[in-house]
Amino acid sequence: ILKSSKNIDRVLMLLGFTENDIQTAFELIKLKRRLAQKTLSNQERIKLLKEVNKLRKYVEYASRKVKGVLIVSSATGRPRGLRVRLFRELLGFEVGTRSEHLRAIVDTYLKPDKSIEEEVASIVKVLGKGGLIFVPIDKGIEYAEKLSSFLRSKGIKAKVFVSKEIKALEEFIRGEVDVLVGVATYYGVMVRGLDLPEIVRYAIFAGIPRFKFSTKLDEPHPLNIMRALVILREVLEKEEDKEKVDRLIARMKRFIAIAPAAVVSEIAKKLKENIPPETAAEKMFYEALAIARSLLEDPEIKRKLKDLKEITIVEENGKMFILIPDIMTYIQASGRTSRMFVGGITKGLSVVIVDDERLLYGLLRRTKWFIEDIEWFDFKTIDLEKLLREIDEDRELVKAVRAGKVKVEKVKEWFKTVLLVVESPNKARTIANFFGKPTIRRRNGLKVYEVTTGKYLLMVTATGGHVFDLVVSQGFHGILTPKDSYVDRYLPVYDTLKRCLDCGYQFTEYVEDKGKVCPKCGSKNIRDSLEIINFIKELAEEVDLVLIGTDPDTEGEKIGWDIAVHLRPHAKKLLRVEFHEVTKRAIVDALDNPRDFNINLIEAQIVRRIEDRWIGFELSRRLWDVFGMRWLSAGRVQTPVLGWIIEKYEKWAKERRKVYVVKVKDLLTIELPEEEIPEEFRKALREAEVEVLEEEKLEEAISPLPPFTTDTLLTEATRTLKLSAGKVMSLAQDLFELGFITYHRTDSPRVSTYGQMIAKTYLADVYGEKAKEYFKPRTWAVGGAHECIRPTRPIDADRLVKLINEGIITPIKPLTKEHIALYDLIFRRFIASQMKEARVEKQRLKVKVMGVEKEIQRIVNIKEKSFLEFYNIVSVEPVIEKGKYITHEVRILEKPTTYPFTHGDLVRQMKERGIGRPSTYAKIIDTLFQRKYIIERKKRLIPTELGIKVYTYLSQNYSRLVSEERTAMLEKIMDDIERGEKNYLDVLDELYDEIVSLP
Ligand SMILES: [Zn+2]
Repeated sequence: ILKSSKNIDRVLMLLGFTENDIQTAFELIKLKRRLAQKTLSNQERIKLLKEVNKLRKYVEYASRKVKGVLIVSSATGRPRGLRVRLFRELLGFEVGTRSEHLRAIVDTYLKPDKSIEEEVASIVKVLGKGGLIFVPIDKGIEYAEKLSSFLRSKGIKAKVFVSKEIKALEEFIRGEVDVLVGVATYYGVMVRGLDLPEIVRYAIFAGIPRFKFSTKLDEPHPLNIMRALVILREVLEKEEDKEKVDRLIARMKRFIAIAPAAVVSEIAKKLKENIPPETAAEKMFYEALAIARSLLEDPEIKRKLKDLKEITIVEENGKMFILIPDIMTYIQASGRTSRMFVGGITKGLSVVIVDDERLLYGLLRRTKWFIEDIEWFDFKTIDLEKLLREIDEDRELVKAVRAGKVKVEKVKEWFKTVLLVVESPNKARTIANFFGKPTIRRRNGLKVYEVTTGKYLLMVTATGGHVFDLVVSQGFHGILTPKDSYVDRYLPVYDTLKRCLDCGYQFTEYVEDKGKVCPKCGSKNIRDSLEIINFIKELAEEVDLVLIGTDPDTEGEKIGWDIAVHLRPHAKKLLRVEFHEVTKRAIVDALDNPRDFNINLIEAQIVRRIEDRWIGFELSRRLWDVFGMRWLSAGRVQTPVLGWIIEKYEKWAKERRKVYVVKVKDLLTIELPEEEIPEEFRKALREAEVEVLEEEKLEEAISPLPPFTTDTLLTEATRTLKLSAGKVMSLAQDLFELGFITYHRTDSPRVSTYGQMIAKTYLADVYGEKAKEYFKPRTWAVGGAHECIRPTRPIDADRLVKLINEGIITPIKPLTKEHIALYDLIFRRFIASQMKEARVEKQRLKVKVMGVEKEIQRIVNIKEKSFLEFYNIVSVEPVIEKGKYITHEVRILEKPTTYPFTHGDLVRQMKERGIGRPSTYAKIIDTLFQRKYIIERKKRLIPTELGIKVYTYLSQNYSRLVSEERTAMLEKIMDDIERGEKNYLDVLDELYDEIVSLP
């Protein structure tokens, strides 16, 4: 029904909607589309928005009259067109589809010892019935016939299957035919049309599935043009050419993904007959064709294509053809052996007989980009007996289910429903997309994604961050203390967070007597997290198991706990899961290994929040009294950091010293502070004699730096990318949530064995056989679940951009240039950390200049580059010979003895002095900016007059409270609570006494 819009209307009417409801909802869909256009003026936008809101109210009202339940079930249909969106508007759900990435297939290749036909025959003899045999498209149906009759001559019941010959299929299903032979082409019936989990057991590829097109592109099908450009992109050098081709590929990809097959073949026909283009899409393909053809004629490009390891160029009858492995067809075709049924996914086997080594290389390499957890084996090395047993057990199970021989209880046991709750909507969507195009349910702007993982029916939803916070009206700033009669010690009181949609103000309590309005601006337009909690509660009641998957750190543990407390009465079972990267592998692993909440972490976070609240409120009140500004505020951790910034700034402003800079051409530059230079030399201004007394060369090994932790990432990224610490953290947050890097809040440089494997795979890709000479796995630290910040896949930044443009990797949010730059930095630093030492040549000098003798060491040559290729940490200077040099280049400079902090320097100092943690480094700096205590000038942090005043007041009156020592100690105490070595209530006692005794 999804393919016909009339049917959609009929179904909706059966559910109780009127024609007018449907019409209005459709209007709404069209208006929303117009609203999404970028070219709208602000005025038009506001007008449209008003109309949209009006229609939306009507549709929301209409959608309450649904009668009954609609079940949508479709084997192959990918819903297209606008009409399908009526489901979203009126029923609050979107139809999803399963993913071909969900597979339990043993992927193997076989390098043949005899002819391909004979290899196929002997494999079929071993494997038996239920085989699909695919022949490459360039060999075509004739070859399929030939292979089929060859198999028959060997006593195998084989038949060719093409779409019109239903008879062969029927015989195959009845078991009268052992194997079907067909062509490996993406839209082929054997590649896409078969869903026979109880019958199909294995697939054999008689040659690697591929595309073939002539270098003249005389069969200019849109798909061929796109594929040609994807390959040509690999050998382009100029950035602008790459970008141009990337954009074209992306546009073609988008078009082909949504256009009906008939439209695409219509364009193919026009292109072939060279009929002038009319539509924008046609023009696009004409342009692409012209570019591809002209590139293919360039001899330099042709030469480079021949060097590509994963394609083959063949000559036939004086014509050149390019062969490219056809990954999508391989995935689809082999996917016939592994189907989803109520008990999970059936096991399957795929054997690729290698007829071209280059295409095999391409197949292995490219399938890994599509399916991160695919593993390839040599067919000769697998335990066939065991595998066939598993394959057959699954087929028996499918048959038993179909025959109704499996009890409902058993089925329920197989098929568990799980609700996974995370904080970020991006994370929720990314996780859901690993398992197919999710079905989406929505309510009040909240979404829940539904997918099957093969093991579970998984629902994923997001809280959007914190849901609860301390109130202000009760106890001591929101915490009941022993003074309150009914509490023994301390009891924090929480309420749901509310956010004013007009002014953005966040609060927990409404002002009494004023009703439910924003305490700041009086607006009634308020979003209460209570709605989220109530929505998730209902979902929790539907499922067998609730899993809380908030971030893997102290803050995440507490956010998760707050939600858990509210869901527990509604959930059959509730547990916590932890994942340090958002990848399919990590999620599947987490789902299989849930744990209980870690109470220590939660208690530590409770103390952190209470201490922040108490200090913040108490000190702020004093600041208001003294300065008369009711928006000032102070915190414990920020204050010593503000102190450093002031101290450094003042030193920079005050202290200067004279430095003599002596330069010997481009060979050597020496800086000498005036006080080191004997009096008599100081006058010889513009001229000096530099004598190199001794010169010695030595070789040294240089080790790479460890991979990034939060502090080193902030230090390096703020310096090299010229971004603020807050910006770096928010970019890293995106990269984490979209699945590209591991968790970015970490102080462990540890590299797991999986991480090492990523480096190994990547280096093998870059260096081939030689990779062994460069790879040196290192763990950098031992123990703990936390890891360094590293890429999650062996894909560098340039490749990542390409794969995104090709649509192979589809992040749910577009990546900016800044995202890519940060990813690049993280990737290179990580790869370097898993490589052998570099070897450099150093020159040790003894130099005499202006009466001062100095020893200097410098790198003059790189003998082995190794990791420096990816992450350079040295600079090479020229060799200088022994002897005397007269120089006229002497300059005297007034130089400050120090400079104000950069973001990076400040983070480094926080780490060294033990103030701040991976989750707070950037926040501390941001807070100082927000309070207007510091500003930024030329990327350096400068205190404001207000900042200096506030700091001076606080350090004069509350020095003990905000001192660096006390702050660092408290951070340590929090760590102790996290490890369970200190009782959090005792710590609260101590804090309480400290604060109530403040002057
Ligand atoms: Zn407001």
